[in-house]
Amino acid sequence: MHAMSTEPRVPIATSAQGAASSWGLGDGQAIPWEYAPAPEARDIVTLKERYGLFIGGREVQASDGGTFATVDPATELVLADVAKATPEDIDKAVRAARRAGSRSWGNLPGRERAKYLFRIARIMQERSREFAVLESMDSGKPIKESRDVDVPLAAAHFWYYAGWADKLEYAFPGRTAHPLGVAAQIIPWNFPLLMLAWKIAPALAAGNTVVLKPASTTPLTALLFADVCQQADLPPGVVNIVPGPGAVGMSLVTHKGVDKVAFTGSTEIGRLIAKGVAGTDKGLTLELGGKAANIVFDDAPLDQAVEGIINGIYFNQGEVCCAGSRLLVQESIAETLIDKLKDRLSTIRVGDPLDKNTDVGAINSRAQLEKITKLVQSGVDEGAELYQPACDLPERGYFFRPTLFTNVAQSHRIAREEIFGPVLSVLTFRTPDEAIEKANNTAYGLSAGIWTDKGSRILHMVSKMRAGVVWANTFNRFDPTSPFGGYKESGFGREGGMHGLYAYVRLEDR
Ligand code: NDP
Repeated sequence: MHAMSTEPRVPIATSAQGAASSWGLGDGQAIPWEYAPAPEARDIVTLKERYGLFIGGREVQASDGGTFATVDPATELVLADVAKATPEDIDKAVRAARRAGSRSWGNLPGRERAKYLFRIARIMQERSREFAVLESMDSGKPIKESRDVDVPLAAAHFWYYAGWADKLEYAFPGRTAHPLGVAAQIIPWNFPLLMLAWKIAPALAAGNTVVLKPASTTPLTALLFADVCQQADLPPGVVNIVPGPGAVGMSLVTHKGVDKVAFTGSTEIGRLIAKGVAGTDKGLTLELGGKAANIVFDDAPLDQAVEGIINGIYFNQGEVCCAGSRLLVQESIAETLIDKLKDRLSTIRVGDPLDKNTDVGAINSRAQLEKITKLVQSGVDEGAELYQPACDLPERGYFFRPTLFTNVAQSHRIAREEIFGPVLSVLTFRTPDEAIEKANNTAYGLSAGIWTDKGSRILHMVSKMRAGVVWANTFNRFDPTSPFGGYKESGFGREGGMHGLYAYVRLEDR
């Protein structure tokens, strides 16, 4: 039965908040003045006490009435209770999606599907501040990132794929593209709304219907998206949203009515999902972890590189699958670059995600904070040298200081394992060949960065790098037109761009 969680919770229908606190620079730092608090007003968001599942175009409670609490990681207060789907609910959602595919959505010409996608994109833009504030409250990411990156990019994916919906014959010349059917989509907590958009927009553009399971720590923007689907008059059952634990995710993956599975998350769960799909004819795309090398040559514009390195690893608290978590720096400039990085680190502002000046917000969950803490301790124990700027962390909430490790060996856990936190490991190299060897010396292969003045060197390095995305003289740039995906244990399949459509169509020669 449903029992409202008794944990401390945020007031519902919040009014504009006072200054959260002065998340400031600590003592002894270079800048002698302090930013005034600039908290984003929260009253744009009307939190419900309890959220349901979204099945067949309606909000429904879980079949057994079960719920779970979702928590604001910056305050540790409960934001809301959310219905916890059961296998029975998953069955209902898959059936609703199948019905919508065979009746309404499946029979619509591409230009009609496009109209819905355009409408969703426009509504997302209209409600962008609501999405951004809610995303920051539920995930802990800084408002300037949810406002300027997550939400605009999510809307851009709908705009982009809306454009393809009536042009599939040009995307696949000489072949007819048929939808696969019902797509089961499981997404993580680091970019909740953006990952939803990466998954739902191409699936719908190609004529599929969807059952999506958001991560348990961040279900709220997916449920707000359900509201957008209703506002856009999307036919019932085309999109279904079923929050619930991992086990429910697995019952979705293994449901017989599912034709395609798309997963973003850890390599460990990716393996389980691949096993769950093995022996069936379901399509599968996996976007898993990463341990990207950000490589800086001695001819690189260093100040620009410093910004790229900082953005590469401290963006979204480093909870980014393609984060530049290994810095490979040419030996001759290592000292200078590390000094510059330490200087820059001392100006990073850690604190309230809803403060517009915050650079690094809260870690998504207590479990993730514990994982980061453990891995950082392993770095110290294995002999790497730790540097953290002096900065005051808020008393409550899951916060972690931006961290930089020097004297890192390739064998250290902090150089091999995905930390998924604001932790940079610095290694050095002498020659381009050594850089290539070290960069590729990882089980992962999602992304990489190269900083150099020479175009020919960029092209040479790109051709040797076993990484799905390689950024040159920049990092963490995303665009809906550009495909994204990995090699090796980072998974397979591509999302974004025209390539992203392949995962959702069956092609027939004309
Ligand atoms: P998971 O891979 O467990 O979570 C991703 C999604 O999969 C969530 O929706 C989760 O649900 C769901 N899930 C969990 N177990 C199963 C299962 N057996 N079958 C189907 N779906 C399942 O990531 P974690 O949240 O546990 O994070 C652990 C680590 O994974 C991080 O520290 C990080 O290193 C890595 N990670 C990588 C991501 C990436 O984008 N590459 C994203 C997130 C994490 P639920 O939330 O209910 O558990």
